[in-house]
Amino acid sequence: MIRAQHRHLTTTLPFSDEQDFEDARRGFIAALEPGVVRDGTGRVVWDIDSYGFLSGAAPDTVNPSLWRQSQLGALQGLHEVVPGLYQVRGFDLSEITFIEGEAGVVVIDPLISVETAAAALALYREHRGNRPVTGVLYTHSHVDHFGGVRGVVDQADVDSGAVPIIAPAGFTGHAVSENVFAGTAMSRRAGYMYGASLERGPRGQVGAGLGLTTSTGTVTLIPPTIEITATGQELVVDGVRMEFQLAPGSEAPAEMHIHLPHLRALCMAENATHVLHNILTIRGALVRDPHAWSRYISEAIELFGDRTDVVFASHHWPTWGHDRAIHFLELQRDLYAYLHDQTVRMMNLGMTGSEIAEAIQMPPALENAWHARGYYGSVSHNVKAVYQRYMGWYDGNPANLWKHPPTEAGRRYVDFMGGADAVVAKAEDSFAAGDYRWVAEVLSHVVFAEPDHAAGRALLADTFEQLGYGAENGTWRCAYLSAAHELRHGSFGTPAAANAPDLYAQLTPEQWFDVIAIRVDGPRAWDLHLTIDIDLTDVSAVHRLTLNNGVLSHTARQLPTTPDLTLRLPMQLLLGLLTGHVEIDGLEAAGAELDGDRSVLAALLGVLDRTDPDFEIVTP
Ligand SMILES: [Zn+2]
Repeated sequence: MIRAQHRHLTTTLPFSDEQDFEDARRGFIAALEPGVVRDGTGRVVWDIDSYGFLSGAAPDTVNPSLWRQSQLGALQGLHEVVPGLYQVRGFDLSEITFIEGEAGVVVIDPLISVETAAAALALYREHRGNRPVTGVLYTHSHVDHFGGVRGVVDQADVDSGAVPIIAPAGFTGHAVSENVFAGTAMSRRAGYMYGASLERGPRGQVGAGLGLTTSTGTVTLIPPTIEITATGQELVVDGVRMEFQLAPGSEAPAEMHIHLPHLRALCMAENATHVLHNILTIRGALVRDPHAWSRYISEAIELFGDRTDVVFASHHWPTWGHDRAIHFLELQRDLYAYLHDQTVRMMNLGMTGSEIAEAIQMPPALENAWHARGYYGSVSHNVKAVYQRYMGWYDGNPANLWKHPPTEAGRRYVDFMGGADAVVAKAEDSFAAGDYRWVAEVLSHVVFAEPDHAAGRALLADTFEQLGYGAENGTWRCAYLSAAHELRHGSFGTPAAANAPDLYAQLTPEQWFDVIAIRVDGPRAWDLHLTIDIDLTDVSAVHRLTLNNGVLSHTARQLPTTPDLTLRLPMQLLLGLLTGHVEIDGLEAAGAELDGDRSVLAALLGVLDRTDPDFEIVTP
């Protein structure tokens, strides 16, 4: 079944078009040999050699279109884009770019980890001379575009003003806040989306579409020293003139494009790459705005198009030649606009997200453009995201307004369908007929009704595996194969949690209090009423925390009433207390002052819930 589907793709997609391979190899200077990056303790944080299996024709267990995309992603090393402009690709999920200036080199987007960014800079220097880094640009607020910054620049050089750090307006707030509230849930689900717990290989993880996978080294952040606040703004850094276009609320909440007039080169950040990107990632996120996204690409063509001979981004390889670059941008623009406009059109015909996702047909020009295919986002889940953006989770049919949750629904479905054994027997027929989507749906009911039903679990795992082998989308494949893995071997938890001290250090006291508030166990705190003034001695600010009705509210306004307790301490100590690293009894010894009823502090800490990074996904 999956084999037939793959064969069909190989005859309909333009596999004979080798232009992408030419582009991904163009300007090659040197590769990292061996393709392994370790941290200071010797732990491997990046291993592109583990993708060495990606050669030759696609095996039956990998969608041939995804296989091709992964082969392109595995072409690593230092490349010249044009003289003076270089990229190191295949050192992380994202790519790092080097612009040579008068005295040194300006870096765009220093990857996720200090270790991979440092390795990329070292490879660059080996071949282009030991140039000092004279500036850093973050194109947007996602971690794969700033996390490795301390691998290319020292704090002291930033503090002295020698090295400017340049980012779009709102960068820091979004960089630290995007994953704060829902971080635990997103990180657990990211384990499914990127397949971090899967073996790499033809039956496992073969890439995530946007890149092969994420590095697992040290994540850092140096806040920007220069913010770009307007489209058309220009800067000269180390003799390199740059012109900026702001694109907030596109692929990231804070994002910008960079034009380099002297090189006739345009950096599109992550708004025009060699994938259909996500309107909504399957790990979960706020829905993005594809309408604005396509408008920014239009604007980039208008602003810079006639001065551009090469377009590049912080993922994948560049596109050279004025006409090809513009054609690429036009198709990317139309891709997001088409998904938006057609979804809304059909929405106004009364169709729901899942119906539109099945009905929508992409124009042939987009269908046959490799860079517009759904390796990271998919037409299917992006259409549902557009629907969600306008209409929300509810499809308007009251049958779906108040449905039973999975376990309760599962019990009833299985009961109506004659019991778990009968469902599994029927599902075997559907499996044999290749209707994997249906098998996944009915067997999920069995597993939620009877989690220990061995035959049901096994067949569901086999089903997810087939869906994974068939998926053109890298993240769908990872999700399906991760689900199969957990059904067979139990939960792998959260393989890569986001916990970088540099990021936490940028959170404001208000953000910390919000984080504490979402940990209050409501019912346990219903009857608790308390007020605490937190006097943060290092930032000279007093915040009143009030717990009432299970809600922890906070204000920096001076209130006339006396709190139950006043706590005077520096921010760092407060964080120690809130994260469980400092006990209440140890506060005074650590330099805090407590004035009033100290029992309220224990009462507050006593109703804070733990988060669960190991929660179940495919089982109850
Ligand atoms: Zn990225």
